Amino acid sequence: MARIVVKFGGTSMANIERIRNSARHVKREIEAGNEVAVVVSAMSGKTNELVGWVNEASPLHDAREYDAIVASGEQVTAGLMAIVLSEMGIQSRSYSGWQVPIYTDDSHGAARITDIDPTELNERMSNGWVPVITGFQGISTKNNRVTTLGRGGSDTSAVAVAAAVGADRCDIYTDVDGVYTTDPRIVPKAQRMTKISFEEMLEMASLGAKVLMIRSVEMAMAHKVRLTVRSSFDDPDAPQIAPDGTPGVPGTLVCDEEEIMEKQIVSGVTLAKAEAKITLRAVKDSPGVAAAIFGTLADKGIIVDMIVQNISDDGATTDITFTVPDSEYDKAVKALENNGGRFEYARLSGSKGGAKVSVVGVGMRSHAGVASSMFKALADKGINIQLITTSEIKTSVLIDEEYAELAVRALHTYYGLDKKDA
Ligand code: ASP
Ligand code: MG
Repeated sequence: MARIVVKFGGTSMANIERIRNSARHVKREIEAGNEVAVVVSAMSGKTNELVGWVNEASPLHDAREYDAIVASGEQVTAGLMAIVLSEMGIQSRSYSGWQVPIYTDDSHGAARITDIDPTELNERMSNGWVPVITGFQGISTKNNRVTTLGRGGSDTSAVAVAAAVGADRCDIYTDVDGVYTTDPRIVPKAQRMTKISFEEMLEMASLGAKVLMIRSVEMAMAHKVRLTVRSSFDDPDAPQIAPDGTPGVPGTLVCDEEEIMEKQIVSGVTLAKAEAKITLRAVKDSPGVAAAIFGTLADKGIIVDMIVQNISDDGATTDITFTVPDSEYDKAVKALENNGGRFEYARLSGSKGGAKVSVVGVGMRSHAGVASSMFKALADKGINIQLITTSEIKTSVLIDEEYAELAVRALHTYYGLDKKDA
């Protein structure tokens, strides 16, 4: 017997038929003798509709009322799921965040979970009940009001509930059947991974693989909650086979590095397009200058990604290059040009339309030569590298957007990630 928290995303809850199909996955786990708690998203599109209504009522609204309104989508699906499960003969009831309770801080619209009292959930589950909990919401201990966790937050709710009830696993049911080595729309030979470590998943998520909300992966890593990403569109009654062909969960397991026997040097290749590059030439090489430059951008809420500063040639000045999203380029240039005397530079140049291509893998820590082999693979295709950044388990390059897909395909093949039979 295992204790499992299952989470259904918006497409898995989109209508009554989809809810019934999702409920059959729960039924299968219950019949296999497991204890199950369910966390649900709102029906797909619902939260957008609610946000739209709030903004139509008043663009400048009270964030506490925003939360009261947008949290309602999950209340509907939690109730519906409980009804459908009951109809299938499974004892079930719904819980809103405050009823669990899931406590948060009072950052309305982007609240953080501070604590979950598992007493009620534990009792229900050990008596064979299936509690169905609203994702995305909680209650603030500061003002006693409903809060929401930020868009996509129900993944985080599910992981937090799993940690609180000491679940063996948290199954995230979505509309894709797992995490892939790269975007299958770019590389048809992309493979579904059997396992990926939390750290790799974090890198992949922040580099653009949109399967899981980043915060949920951070939380899973901190509390060592094993996650699986799987599709609710699979036949609920089909035999449960893991991607490697052995009996198990038919999705990708996101787990601690320790659980992964064979550590890949490169496990995945990611792509982020629409990256703009900005260079400041002859910036004074003295303490506080970088802080002033990036402080100016931070004050405008501009998120900077790759940052490269070279050592000074003349001992007096240096060049700094960094990237921002294309959509922030004009705003960034304006902020730098009108910096109110916070810093000086000789020239500003830049361009939009870059692509950041990255290779990710925990095996990189113990293997030399990943960067050089990556550069070689790109050179073989005649692709010029504009910027390079690295972390312990990732190497990223900025290239011209025109070559983005070619680069991803070349690296995917180079690191042996292509599906054998495709
Ligand atoms: N319904 C919320 C949203 O659309 C939360 C979620 O689906 O994770 O952002
Ligand atoms: Mg979602």
